[in-house]
Amino acid sequence: MERTEIDTTVPHPARRYNYWLGGKDNFAADRESGDQLEALFPKVRLGALANRAYLQRATRYLAAEAGVRQFLDIGTGLPTADNTHEVAQSVAPESRVVYVDNDPMVMVHARALLTSTPEGRTAYIEADLNEPGAILANRAVAETLDLSQPVGLMLIAVLHFIRGHGAARPIVRRLVDALPSGSYLCATHATSDFGTPEQQRLYQQLLDEGKSDVWTRTRDEFAALFDGLDLIEPGIVPASEWRPEPGATIPERSDINVWVAVARKP
Ligand code: SAH
Repeated sequence: MERTEIDTTVPHPARRYNYWLGGKDNFAADRESGDQLEALFPKVRLGALANRAYLQRATRYLAAEAGVRQFLDIGTGLPTADNTHEVAQSVAPESRVVYVDNDPMVMVHARALLTSTPEGRTAYIEADLNEPGAILANRAVAETLDLSQPVGLMLIAVLHFIRGHGAARPIVRRLVDALPSGSYLCATHATSDFGTPEQQRLYQQLLDEGKSDVWTRTRDEFAALFDGLDLIEPGIVPASEWRPEPGATIPERSDINVWVAVARKP
């Protein structure tokens, strides 16, 4: 069953991310949470922008270079410029995309704005990444995607909402296991690896006090999510260093705090 209530009094990741990206679809609680994280990590907006730009480059890579025509994008976010289906369909109009998010506000916007080319198809599911089996079993997946053909699994800035050591890996494994050889995993993840020991201590404090919902992971923990897959060059790098546009300025690694990679299922 779908939830329709939108609670504006608690911060939501999609709205906070929208705030960092300069959007208008956010409320006071989201801005407060965003400002609190920004106070500790002053370059958090740069990281959000770099994450979003990676999503677009990685999608273009899958569509243009890897020939992928189907995408399962979990953690859609509020629609902004160049969403996954727009990038994919600009390369291959027949591309099909299933979006998944657990935020009812995202779903409302998504239904209104994420419209497909006539040749392609988009669908939206309100579901939780903590229940990958339910996502895979959703009718919209079977109706929109052909799971005997390669799929681009997009887990972009969503895995850090899966709390707990070792908690993300079985979820990724379950999803990847359901996809055929030649499928790809694109993932990004917030990290405290580049923080000073003091920043790391203060961040742990925020988490312990329930003031942050972002469960950061180390490079090794992120790398483990790709076990059994073949990493595409340049492997695991900060978001701004994954196949940057020629001439792009590359920020300091410590300003990005987001690990990314693309890998192919053999
Ligand atoms: N992938 C987009 C948006 C990232 S914002 C991008 O990178 O640009 C993170 C999104 O994940 C939000 O829309 C939030 O609602 C969603 N999300 C957070 N936890 C989730 C969960 N457990 N299941 C599904 N979606 C989740």
